Amino acid sequence: MVTPRIEINLRKIAHNAKTLKELYGSKGIDVIGVTKVVCGDTKIAEIILKSGIRILADSRISNIKKMRDAGIQAQFLLLRTIYSQANDVVNYADISLNSELSVIKELSKFAVKQDKTHKIILMVELGDLREGIMPSVLENTVKEIIKLKGIKLVGIGTNLACFGGIKPDNEKMEHLSSIAKNIEDKFKLKLKFISGGNSANYNWFMATKDVGKINNLRLGESIFLGCETLDRKPIPKLFTDAFTLIAEVIELKTKPSLPYGDIHQDAFGNTPKFHDIGEIRRALLGVGLQDVLVSGLMPISVIDILGASSDHLIVNAKQTDLKVGDTVKFNLNYGALLAAMTSPYIIKKYK
Ligand SMILES: *Cc1c(COP(=O)(O)O)cnc(C)c1O
Repeated sequence: MVTPRIEINLRKIAHNAKTLKELYGSKGIDVIGVTKVVCGDTKIAEIILKSGIRILADSRISNIKKMRDAGIQAQFLLLRTIYSQANDVVNYADISLNSELSVIKELSKFAVKQDKTHKIILMVELGDLREGIMPSVLENTVKEIIKLKGIKLVGIGTNLACFGGIKPDNEKMEHLSSIAKNIEDKFKLKLKFISGGNSANYNWFMATKDVGKINNLRLGESIFLGCETLDRKPIPKLFTDAFTLIAEVIELKTKPSLPYGDIHQDAFGNTPKFHDIGEIRRALLGVGLQDVLVSGLMPISVIDILGASSDHLIVNAKQTDLKVGDTVKFNLNYGALLAAMTSPYIIKKYK
């Protein structure tokens, strides 16, 4: 079978999606499935929808277009809206997250042109300092938005634990609830989505007695890797191994552990340092930094990763009986999964 490849266990992903939908649903929170880490993979999108999730979100319009073109029947939410893509955003996404009035005006222009109503969720900054309107100017922004033709404000949301590592706690969620209530009262409208965050909201959800007005979360990592994302702890009853990276041994030799000669920069401009542990069994695997974030790989067998270049991964094969042509399996963290799904050199194999 072709290597390197990523094996994707659709049954495990489906189980995670269904379990999370039921868990969050138990306190009235609906789940949106975020497909960006799998590049809008259509088989994975389908299995998420089969698990009962009805809205899919992606950061890239090209992924949404790919899913639509494959005939996937869902509502699509665009997570990252770009001014110059407004025409395509209106064309392919049903809903988009937004935080700039000039972009929303552009969406309005194309919505009118396409004779459509484009729905938007306004993102509110609550301290993580990635996207979002400062709460103090939110009311004024809403005032402008509701005048725009072809645009319907359907919700507000926030995103935490992405850039600043800020925890979505009771205080942040209560703040978002109160902002939502204020907008609804002030403008006499009903916000369908009060979207409290992402996979990092798990601990808050489990601990809180009252979710307030929060009725939606956008989940990627916890569906795919079965963990929350504040401490990367596994979520009970979920699979953490739905994805496995498989690489092949292309050389295996006993060699020194310490490079010899005059040490200068490596392939990536670092000056490497090594410990001398005598001669070791070194396996060279046919996968590299062009395929995967090597620091995010966790070997399933007892071997140690020593390093990597663009196309080679070097491991200490230790006491294993590995030989040339054998395969080695790895679990992946989010960064490794993102890179592996994005690399055209990694074959995607569904199980
Ligand atoms: C990526 C993303 C998500 C999903 O985050 P996970 O940690 O994978 O659950 C949710 N919301 C926004 C705005 C995102 O960009």
